[in-house]
Amino acid sequence: MINNSTIASSNGRFYLPDQVAKGLYINGLWQVASSGKTLDVIDPSSESLVARVADASEVDAMAAIEAAAAAATGWANTAPRKRGEILRRCFELMTERADDLAWLISLENGKALSDARGEVAYAAEFFRWNAEEAVRIQGQLLTAPAGTNRIIVDYQPIGICVLITPWNFPAAMATRKIGPALAAGCTVVLKPASETPLTAYALAALYAEAGVPPGVVNVVTTTSPSTVIAKMLADPRVRKLSFTGSTPVGRTLLAEAAKHVISCSMELGGNAPLIVFDDADIDTALDGTMIAKMRNAGQACTAANRIFVQSNIYDQFVEKLQNRMENMIVGPGTSPHTACGPMINAKAREKLVALVENAVSLGAQLKCGGATPNMKGYYYPPTVLADVPLQAKLNNEEIFGPVAAISKFNTEEEVIARANDTEYGLAAYVFTRDVSRGFRVARQLEFGMMGLNRGLVSDPAAPFGGVKQSGLGREGGTHGIYEFLEAKYIATSI
Ligand code: NAP
Repeated sequence: MINNSTIASSNGRFYLPDQVAKGLYINGLWQVASSGKTLDVIDPSSESLVARVADASEVDAMAAIEAAAAAATGWANTAPRKRGEILRRCFELMTERADDLAWLISLENGKALSDARGEVAYAAEFFRWNAEEAVRIQGQLLTAPAGTNRIIVDYQPIGICVLITPWNFPAAMATRKIGPALAAGCTVVLKPASETPLTAYALAALYAEAGVPPGVVNVVTTTSPSTVIAKMLADPRVRKLSFTGSTPVGRTLLAEAAKHVISCSMELGGNAPLIVFDDADIDTALDGTMIAKMRNAGQACTAANRIFVQSNIYDQFVEKLQNRMENMIVGPGTSPHTACGPMINAKAREKLVALVENAVSLGAQLKCGGATPNMKGYYYPPTVLADVPLQAKLNNEEIFGPVAAISKFNTEEEVIARANDTEYGLAAYVFTRDVSRGFRVARQLEFGMMGLNRGLVSDPAAPFGGVKQSGLGREGGTHGIYEFLEAKYIATSI
């Protein structure tokens, strides 16, 4: 095991403060868990122990809520300009340390360094964007339709926020919540995923350096998320739950939050269709498919799960995609040559093995990959399945790995029906040179976001989020900050 204080970046700089070895970040201080327990952080590229961080109990979680409550009034009353300047400093520090942070993400998550660098840039941008949003919170003033009085709508911070994030974007999923919450004037307790806590703690140290006051951001890691989160949500001062993760856990948390009628933002799972029409520019479609499928080795909520290709270009597309997938270098995330890192853990890889076996047993053609390499690390090779039958399980489940599942379609009407045949509704992708068809299809697809001739939709300036069972609410854009604000209406005769 590497001692936390000796975790260094590829350029030799130390950037995780020694105190991180103590874990929990509460009220601006690093604290051991009250139980003394720790949780192991494993490098998925080697299966070796990277570090141990504190394993919080309900007692620790409530200490974090107390800290957030004590800091709430001061932060809400901090001038928006000042809040914005502190957020801007967070952006600058993240940008200055982008290489170090990317290396840490690759170490604990396993994603390729190029993906990790992209994540850091994306994550930092939520601070820059929300630094600008902090001073642009718009209220309303109007005259009542009856002409009897005026209506004033004021926006106030919603209160203490509990934020829960997944392992697949350990930096960006946190800053996509912390940026707007702090811009709105809220204080927060973040519970990052157990697999990737180091990035969250490294960022906590950076926020303090940028001037975020003690108690405004608190970070707790735990191996008992269910009881720890339930305890926090039961505190009447907590008014917001913002969750990013799987749909099943999202459902459980919605039920928990319902007990206390807490406002919820839910960024949940996806099952993205990627549609390539005959008239598409094939290289643009292939570039877009590689990004939509292979970013983070396929471990993204927006990953292309079902690839539909029109009959006239089907064989050509399959052959070219196979060629690109076969040539990807698989290896440790921290190696500069790696294009496809490991899966996050053994369970995630076992799921892929089962999904591919199921599809092949039902008649899918295995074009490349499909065999787990005999080496340490949770690797699974880039895999292409063609002629995937409708009944294959991977049509209804998130693959969450480097498996491209392709099937053929004939008509626009048919592919829209197939694409919408899912309980999920996060992202979709369409490739066509016919602009009017692109917009026509976009309107009919039941998804919150659509890439038109693009394999990437994420942008801090755009509203990210899903419909159906992919979630509630939006993060980013001008919408994001309003998830952390409450409208107050004042009726006045003046
Ligand atoms: P997950 O299992 O749902 O876990 C997400 C977070 O919830 C983790 O911090 C986890 O803690 C915590 N958690 C698990 N069970 C809980 C419970 N009963 N009560 C409270 N918290 C609980 O998801 P994941 O495997 O980390 O992430 C992958 C999923 O996230 C995929 O479904 C993906 O599509 C989705 N995702 C969605 C978006 C989006 O924006 N829509 C973005 C990224 C990922 P532990 O780590 O300690 O278990």
